[in-house]
Amino acid sequence: MTNPQPDNPKIFADPATMPTYETKRLTVPSAEALIGVPLRCLDKGFVRLVDYMGGDARVVQSARVSYGEGTKTIRDDAALIDYLIRNAHTSPIEQVETVTHWKLPIFVARQIVRTRTASLNEESARYSILGNEFWVPSLEELRAQSSTNKQMSGEVLPRELAEKLLAAIVAEQQSGYTLYEELLRQGLSREVARIVLDAAVYTEWYWKIDAKNLIDTLRLRDDSHAQPQTQAYARAMKEVLRAVAPQVYASADEHVWGAARFGRSERQALADMLDGVECRIEGGARDRFVAKLAIAKPNPLYLPLERIGFADEEVMRLDGHGIRTGGDLVECATRGALRSLFGDTAEDLFRRADAAGLVLRGW
Ligand SMILES: Cc1cc2nc3c(=O)[nH]c(=O)nc-3n(C[C@H](O)[C@H](O)[C@H](O)COP(=O)(O)OP(=O)(O)OC[C@H]3O[C@@H](n4cnc5c(N)ncnc54)[C@H](O)[C@@H]3O)c2cc1C
Repeated sequence: MTNPQPDNPKIFADPATMPTYETKRLTVPSAEALIGVPLRCLDKGFVRLVDYMGGDARVVQSARVSYGEGTKTIRDDAALIDYLIRNAHTSPIEQVETVTHWKLPIFVARQIVRTRTASLNEESARYSILGNEFWVPSLEELRAQSSTNKQMSGEVLPRELAEKLLAAIVAEQQSGYTLYEELLRQGLSREVARIVLDAAVYTEWYWKIDAKNLIDTLRLRDDSHAQPQTQAYARAMKEVLRAVAPQVYASADEHVWGAARFGRSERQALADMLDGVECRIEGGARDRFVAKLAIAKPNPLYLPLERIGFADEEVMRLDGHGIRTGGDLVECATRGALRSLFGDTAEDLFRRADAAGLVLRGW
């Protein structure tokens, strides 16, 4: 039995109200559950899964076309996917597609748009009027220029200075938006009036990418060298991939995001160290080598706060510790961080999550 087509085509703007149909297509329960759920990013943004094609089973199905029935050694589906990713046989991974809807500041969009292997369609500020929504950094996000890395932030600014700068940033955003409205009132076209808005203004887009190129993009963008605000969106996209193709996600986590590339002398040093010989790499090269050996940071944890019955004051405690919350989700917390904040209450929190049937990964 199928639902009738809605009369109003605008209904398609909201995935939660979209009609559903019986399908012969491959579906993935965790992806179906995630469709339409906003994964909060920054103060006002989100990523939500709109649609997907394929999943782990599609990777296996398409891989078996090339490997055929004769390949008896790669019987197990999970092992096959792991083999493909480990050995960069990535064309079956490209068979999985994701379509997501993002709300993001323009300065983040400018970075993500460099991923040429994605297809996107962005809100037109020539056609529609942009909302008065800007990314407003928290005080902890106002940090000094890094003294060691030219493209990164360093120490958190002294609180008094941070408060002064934050007030100036907000005032500038609001005066820009007031002027934007005034220019529109005076009859200036939308395509020119928008030039007075800064790069922190939020935009929206639909973003489509296959799982292979998504894995590569997330390697670059959920990395400590990437801009933290862009990392937030990369982490949300990791959740999307985990829902759509859990085994692809697990193998990418192990062999791509969790991997490091060692040069010839670094491999020699590792071999020497296994033989009990001291590492002979020195200076900056040694620092870079050691950094590669550091275990990657844990995956983020998304807690749907409402579903585990979080009280407001608990949410405030998370905010107060720089763990960003938004709507009904808290992002980027690890089990260890929650434990250090809540002590025994953390165990209660994990129990509540279990009772709600949530799988809290990432610690
Ligand atoms: C931390 C960081 C800092 C960055 N800083 C800057 C910066 O200062 N300035 C700046 O301009 N960009 C910057 N970038 C963007 C970066 O240089 C890449 O353009 C971006 O990450 C996209 O990577 P990609 O080309 O691998 O991905 P995609 O565009 O998705 O391409 C995927 C792959 O397809 C192939 N490919 C795609 N297009 C071409 C092509 N035209 N020719 C040959 N091969 C192609 C390549 O193998 C490529 O790896 C930065 C990125 C990061 C992560």
